[in-house]
Amino acid sequence: MTPAGPRLVLATHNQGKLRELRELLRGQVPGLDVDTQVVDAAAVDAPDVRETGVTFAANALLKAHAVAKATGLPSIADDSGLAVDVLGGAPGIFSARWAGRHGDDQANLELLLAQLGDIAPEHRGASFVCAAALALPNGTERVELGRLAGTLLEAPRGDGGFGYDPILQPEGLDVSCAEMSGEQKNAISHRGQAFRALMPAIVEVLAAG
Ligand code: IMP
Repeated sequence: MTPAGPRLVLATHNQGKLRELRELLRGQVPGLDVDTQVVDAAAVDAPDVRETGVTFAANALLKAHAVAKATGLPSIADDSGLAVDVLGGAPGIFSARWAGRHGDDQANLELLLAQLGDIAPEHRGASFVCAAALALPNGTERVELGRLAGTLLEAPRGDGGFGYDPILQPEGLDVSCAEMSGEQKNAISHRGQAFRALMPAIVEVLAAG
């Protein structure tokens, strides 16, 4: 019989991330109803966790462990950002607050473009990076990384996506991430790669439990 109630928590309030994880898991585990049993942080009153780590992996693990401990359920968390080559990997873990205020996407993007104002296209390499972590209530953990490499444009293009999407043009493409459909981006994105790499471990845990 299918156990009732949530079986896996994604430590986020972002519905786009939850939708993506559910789609990846759909049909993978016999008896798992992804729409009711794979849930976000709010559905199980999971705590908000301060991101005190200094790497994407450390922050993803921190969140996954805190939520697994608080809920008693296997938990997944991700942490991501933009790493710019000429800035030595910055904004990195500070991507969401690069201009000083958490989540001001427009200000973050404008500051970065201004900083790179004199940098020629051949030196504008950058990557989106994502760490996705799985933690169990017993302390077991697993973390995987994904990377989407590209070039930073000199002006924003496209109105889809979020964050730095309008200024990252993935390698080998002539569109920015904000000019791609959600499906196209998920297929190559840092987050898609990290979640997909974590999938066998997630399926194993759910199939066993
Ligand atoms: P978080 O991991 O969802 O907290 O994202 C951290 C920050 O990194 C976001 O606020 C964005 O500025 C940036 N970021 C992460 N992933 C993406 C992406 O796929 N597109 C654009 N910006 C991103």
